[in-house]
Amino acid sequence: MSNRVYNFAAGPAVMPEPVLLQAAQELFCHGDDGMSVMEMSHRSAMYEKIIFGAEEDLRRLMNIPSNYKVLFLQGGASLQFYMAPLNLYRKSFSADYIDTGSWTQKGMVEAKKIGNVRIVASSKADNFTYIPSFTQDMLDPEADFLYIVTNNTIYGTRYTAIPDSLPGVPLVGDASSNILSEEIDINKFGVLFFGAQKNVGPAGLTVVIIREDLLGFCPETAPTMLNYSVMAKNDSMFNTPPTYAIYMAGLVFRWMLENGGVPAMEKVNNEKAAMLYDCIDRCSLYTGTVRPCDRSLMNATFVLPTEELNNKFVAEAAERGLVNLKGHRSVGGIRASIYNAMPVAGVQALVNFMEEFDRANR
Ligand SMILES: *Cc1c(COP(=O)(O)O)cnc(C)c1O
Repeated sequence: MSNRVYNFAAGPAVMPEPVLLQAAQELFCHGDDGMSVMEMSHRSAMYEKIIFGAEEDLRRLMNIPSNYKVLFLQGGASLQFYMAPLNLYRKSFSADYIDTGSWTQKGMVEAKKIGNVRIVASSKADNFTYIPSFTQDMLDPEADFLYIVTNNTIYGTRYTAIPDSLPGVPLVGDASSNILSEEIDINKFGVLFFGAQKNVGPAGLTVVIIREDLLGFCPETAPTMLNYSVMAKNDSMFNTPPTYAIYMAGLVFRWMLENGGVPAMEKVNNEKAAMLYDCIDRCSLYTGTVRPCDRSLMNATFVLPTEELNNKFVAEAAERGLVNLKGHRSVGGIRASIYNAMPVAGVQALVNFMEEFDRANR
């Protein structure tokens, strides 16, 4: 019905086709509301249904207990690099970070503007090709928080188990690129945040899930827009929220619920990742760039023997309608992002191409 390609971009990224089709149908006039969602006042009853419905569906998908607030904010995950420390530095003004690459490093740059940052463990010396391990005795019991990135979009690594923080030290997680891709226990986190544009919806929406006892510590002098408590008290509508992006995210949450929720997504994601990694391991032309036990379900990274072959691979794949496979400049090679919305058929098409390319070029 269209000339759509298989889009393996890291983000903004592929959206579920049924969601796009529904949005197209509702774009001009949403149900019986007499207007497009874009035209609705965020204070109207018709919009409240959309934003509160989206929150309720996300709570169901993730089993978020009632002592957590869900905030729909703007500014991207990158604003949270500063906003989370701003709201969470409250006693020692020191925080522990596990350094797994570019996104934790950008997080540390912002945190250092407010307090002390201690690197507990890092895989920097090996270009972040694995998740560094650490033990509880390496953590600071006085830290105001412990910070991790659950999936490292650029390198293709992920925590297969969420680490424990010390009692009284909230764990802060950036789950921008693997939220809702596998089951995760929100109770392990004090704060979990994600930009929407990878696994949830269009860019412009950032979701923050925060345990209620962590509200109320933002300095009075901080910009009101950066105060979690203000956003929580006002149901994310202190000012105009990104209304259309929230609506789109709501459609994605609904699509997920109708398709078995997170457990079903996880099952398919495991299958898709296995298809791709099996192909990488089977074909002599490809070398996976990360330690196999830390491989991401969402971003698969690999390299070919030469830069010339990397480029040829990307170009020939694009001719077949398999696009955006070029790796991040800091890793090089190839990165295939296979978020929830990437159908099995898309991964199969990529694997078929990879096998042919391997035979023709090895
Ligand atoms: C993409 C990404 C970001 C940056 O998100 P923005 O919304 O562009 O600020 C941060 N963290 C992770 C893990 C990401 O994948």
